[in-house]
Parts: sequence; C-alpha cells; structure tokens
Amino acid sequence: MAGASRRVVVTDGQRIEVHPGCEAVVEFDPDLTFECVDSCTWCCQHGVLLSDPDLVGLAKRANVNEATVDFRGQQAVKREPKDRENDVAPDGAACFFLRDDGLCALHAEHDWKPVRCSVFPLSVELEDDDLHISIREEAHDHCEGLDVSERRVIDHLDDFLPERLWSIANPETAIEP
Ligand code: SF4
Ligand code: SF4
Repeated sequence: MAGASRRVVVTDGQRIEVHPGCEAVVEFDPDLTFECVDSCTWCCQHGVLLSDPDLVGLAKRANVNEATVDFRGQQAVKREPKDRENDVAPDGAACFFLRDDGLCALHAEHDWKPVRCSVFPLSVELEDDDLHISIREEAHDHCEGLDVSERRVIDHLDDFLPERLWSIANPETAIEP
C-alpha cells in the first residue's frame, strides 16, 4: 500500500531496519562490498523506469517532458545518442542524464537519483509484502564495483534503499519481458 511501511514477517533471511519502520530481508553475503568505479558507466547506459515519487522529485530538478519517455505505460528516463566512444551501449546511446565526464547530472548537480539508480547493483523482490534484497544477476557480469573496496553493502543499506522505496506500489527491480 502506497505510503505505508512494509509488514514485518520473520523469514529465513536476515531482517534489517533500513529506515525507521522500514525493514528489508537481506539475501546476499553480508561481507559483500561495493564502491562505484569512476571509469564504469555500465548501469547508466540503459533507460531507467521511474516510480511516481521519482517523477515528483525529477520534476523539481529537470524538464520531465524532455528527459522521459513512455515505456509500456510507465515513465522512464530516456536514452539518447552520446558523442562518446566509450561508456555507451553498443548502439552509441546512454541515459539522458549521463554527462560527458561520465557522471550522472542528477547526482552530481542535485545529490539525487531515481530509486532504481540508487538500488543498483541490488535487486528488490516483493514477497508477502516484504522487500527481499539480493544482487542483480547482471551486476555479477557487468558491475565493476562489487568486492573492490572495504565498504560493506550491509552497513550502508540506507544509501542503496532510499526511504521512498517503501512507498512505491511496485518496488520490484525485475522488468517483465
Ligand atoms: S539517472 Fe543518473 S544514475 Fe540513473 S542511469 Fe541516468 S545517469 Fe545513471
Ligand atoms: S555498473 Fe556498477 S560500477 Fe559500473 S557505474 Fe554502475 S554501479 Fe558503478
């Protein structure tokens, strides 16, 4: 239910209170570390689905009409051709907000990102109204930031899982084919 904290139910995973009243069931190795690698922009080469709270936040920081497209009935940050040889998808495009210096304009200039960008490389599944957190399969293949630092993901879950995640009607990161 939008605006409400998820119900607390004991499961076989480790339960963590990420924000007051907002818990998640952790299903990854607690020793996993992550630090985004400056030279990697893999997860910014794709479009980003936007939740309703994202759209409200984005509208305060950018021109939503210019930056988004409809994707199967849901708004998404659009991709656009980039004048770069590296750090773009094979079609030469990347996220609208990926700057020439490889940084995200929203993050660099507004200290803000869509929820799905904050969550990566984690995955969110909704089971019995609980958020279950694991690692995105494609992150193991493409994300250069896994296990390259001392920064344990489990100690910084609030960075990956913003409080507004708990108010989204469908917080799951998997996209139906
Ligand atoms: S909005 Fe920013 S963090 Fe998200 S994909 Fe685009 S450039 Fe990357
Ligand atoms: S794929 Fe991983 S290392 Fe690369 S930009 Fe995304 S979060 Fe950072």
